[in-house]
Amino acid sequence: MLPVIALVGRPNVGKSTLFNRLTRTRDAIVADFAGLTRDRHYGTAKLGKRQFIVIDTGGLEDSSEGAIFQKMAGQTLQAIAEADLVIFMLDVRAGLAGQDQEIARYLRKIGKPTLLVANKAEGMKDSAQLSEFYELGLGEVYAISAAHGQGVRDVLELAQEMLPPEVSDDEEAASEEEQEDSTIRIAVAGRPNAGKSTLINAWLGEERLVAFDMPGTTRDAIRVPFQRGEQRYELIDTAGLRRKGKVFQSIEKFSVVKTLQAIEGAQVVVLVIDAVDGVTDQDAHIAGFILESGRAVVVAVNKWDALDRYQREQLERSIELRLSFMKFAALKHISALKRQGLGPLWTAIDAAYAAATCKMQTAKLTRLLQEALQYQAPRKSGMYRPKPRYAHQGGMNPPIIVIHGNSLDHLSQSYQRFLETWFRKAFKLEGTPLRIELRTSE
Ligand code: GDP
Ligand code: GDP
Repeated sequence: MLPVIALVGRPNVGKSTLFNRLTRTRDAIVADFAGLTRDRHYGTAKLGKRQFIVIDTGGLEDSSEGAIFQKMAGQTLQAIAEADLVIFMLDVRAGLAGQDQEIARYLRKIGKPTLLVANKAEGMKDSAQLSEFYELGLGEVYAISAAHGQGVRDVLELAQEMLPPEVSDDEEAASEEEQEDSTIRIAVAGRPNAGKSTLINAWLGEERLVAFDMPGTTRDAIRVPFQRGEQRYELIDTAGLRRKGKVFQSIEKFSVVKTLQAIEGAQVVVLVIDAVDGVTDQDAHIAGFILESGRAVVVAVNKWDALDRYQREQLERSIELRLSFMKFAALKHISALKRQGLGPLWTAIDAAYAAATCKMQTAKLTRLLQEALQYQAPRKSGMYRPKPRYAHQGGMNPPIIVIHGNSLDHLSQSYQRFLETWFRKAFKLEGTPLRIELRTSE
């Protein structure tokens, strides 16, 4: 599970500026769950090889003084509770404010590891201005400038030391070996009430499915291993499920953090859409996050039983429109409640996994590339004629195809899309994103 850092502080101290700087790496994701969480932003950041989730908590509901908890929205408090580390931001230029004191009191009370960061410190020579912040009783204060990037790296390195230890390479290698038996790790994602718990219970109640003993709950996630036919699976919970007798019950409210962690930890994500409500902004945000994470995905349109023919047609159109960026994903209509459509959903999950982990030989890739070039050659761009020469696989899950050649910087977006479609077809890659990387030698 990815560790979580929450940025906390009163309005205008620079939280979103720092958030943007932290999540600006190449594979940064900004999942803005508007509607549910107002201004809270969730993203991933990277330091070296290590990745973590960053939350811009958005701070307070209003700027009047008073009981701090009432002003922090539920999701902010939840984000702090779920965080491994809080970065508490202050504004050096504005000095210590009453609200800072209140937030500090709250953080001291809950005893969360906290890093105190004084922002807007660019061009400040002495540390005298920092001294008043020590009053907060949260230890050392670190001066940064989020806008100019000063001190940010140091703070990230400090943060890294305060996070739970990373799984060592050895352990990772061992767990990858375990994966050799091709257990498929599944996360079920979707809005509250989409039918995630109902689906999971429908699965676990299936006759063909053998659930193994639960290996106890880890820090705050449960994993349910099971087997269906010859195939082994592991379900990563997103819904805060707890076992009650034979069924699982969702006892927590919707958690964005858990959803993001489960998506990152999964190999295949089942995105559950509520057919009655249609595709909402929040569905699109979750879909966007899944896409950025590179995970294979199957869209399960649930509660299909509750729609008449006209409504079904309407829904199909809206899905096509709103999830157009996920065309590669299989779409399955199901009723978790009536246990309908579950067989085809399993087939799609297995296919998505197979596509995500497919092995593509250099010889075949290069031959396909040559065929594509013959079918349609790339256009000249100014003085340059891009010349793809050969291709090899650069990674799995998602599959990455690396294309080598000359002047590839000038290969148009549309030609890259043409190649993607070409390779997709040839390898029957349904259900997984495909990434194409260009390595140009000129
Ligand atoms: P938030 O409300 O805590 O998310 O704060 P914002 O990130 O929106 O920043 C509030 C204001 O402070 C904006 O006008 C930013 O441009 C400014 N700001 C943020 N970081 C810095 C900084 O390092 N130095 C200075 N001088 N201004 C900053
Ligand atoms: P979760 O919050 O995503 O875990 O959603 P739940 O599994 O708790 O389901 C929310 C509500 O939708 C419950 O009242 C379910 O009975 C209902 N529901 C779930 N699946 C279906 C379905 O396939 N058809 C219909 N009509 N209702 C469903």
